[in-house]
Amino acid sequence: MTEPGVIKHMDSTEITPQQLAAIHKYTRRPLEAEELYVFKVNLCDNEVDRDGERFTIQSLYRLADLFVGKTGIFDHNPKGDNQTARIFEAQVVADPGRITSAGETYHCLCAWAYMVRSQKNADLILEIDGGIKKEVSVSCAVSQRICSICGANRLTQPCSHQPGADYETPTGTQKCHILLEEPTDAYEWSFVAIPAQPQAGVTKAHLPIFGEEAQAGEVLKAIRQGETSLSQTQAAVLCRYLDGLEELAKAGENYLETLRKEYVRLSGAALPSLEGEVARQICEKMTVAQLEHCNRAMEEASQRRKPVSLQLGGDWEESSSDGNRNFKI
Ligand SMILES: [Zn+2]
Repeated sequence: MTEPGVIKHMDSTEITPQQLAAIHKYTRRPLEAEELYVFKVNLCDNEVDRDGERFTIQSLYRLADLFVGKTGIFDHNPKGDNQTARIFEAQVVADPGRITSAGETYHCLCAWAYMVRSQKNADLILEIDGGIKKEVSVSCAVSQRICSICGANRLTQPCSHQPGADYETPTGTQKCHILLEEPTDAYEWSFVAIPAQPQAGVTKAHLPIFGEEAQAGEVLKAIRQGETSLSQTQAAVLCRYLDGLEELAKAGENYLETLRKEYVRLSGAALPSLEGEVARQICEKMTVAQLEHCNRAMEEASQRRKPVSLQLGGDWEESSSDGNRNFKI
């Protein structure tokens, strides 16, 4: 870990030769300072956020490396060609006068981004200069989510502690929070409109992560090909992927149970002498598609049987001799 830098006070219209050189790594031709707009964004810090999570100082340093070169988008127009900015420099800045709620010196990950000035982004630049656009959300992947109370990595070892709740520890009462450690990738950052985010600060998207499904696919492929050792990151990716599948499986199971209950109810109405328990046993063996099909068919049949009574709300009786229906209203 290197020492934190000093806070730079920078006018967005002034671009230093060092900054220009850093930007030129990303441009096809060396652009003049007048063609560029440079601004500073605070990406994230080590304060506990409203989700009860925080980056460790070490994570901020790692993210500083990962975010250089990453593009940012503006929430109202993510596809706008001229509405993107790229980070060309990032630095962790410490504020010794400020202590976080977790008792650490406040550290912030500051980044400098550039945009190529154009007519289309003139308004946007004005908004950034005017401080209207200043809250940023970041999207990144971390391989460790550590419980501050028991030290468990909750990605692989869930614990019962709830972020935000107080717990008695040998060193006194502590509020549980999650430490986000070992960032493995940074995906993007974006400006969020202040009115939509009244609680100023960082909104992050650690999980689920863009591209993680593809990563998990690669890990699975390697395992199928006989790979038996996984790196910590690969294992974490796989665990998150499995957690996601588990959640989906639960939702699927709930849906199946709803279909089975519906099957028992509808078959009871269609065939009153059929025992509920038997209907239940029949549908246990049916697939989702078969259940959906049967339920739909029984529903339609029951609609056909009593159309008028449903429309008029009257009692009805069926003539046993000729099949004609007589209605009493
Ligand atoms: Zn815990």
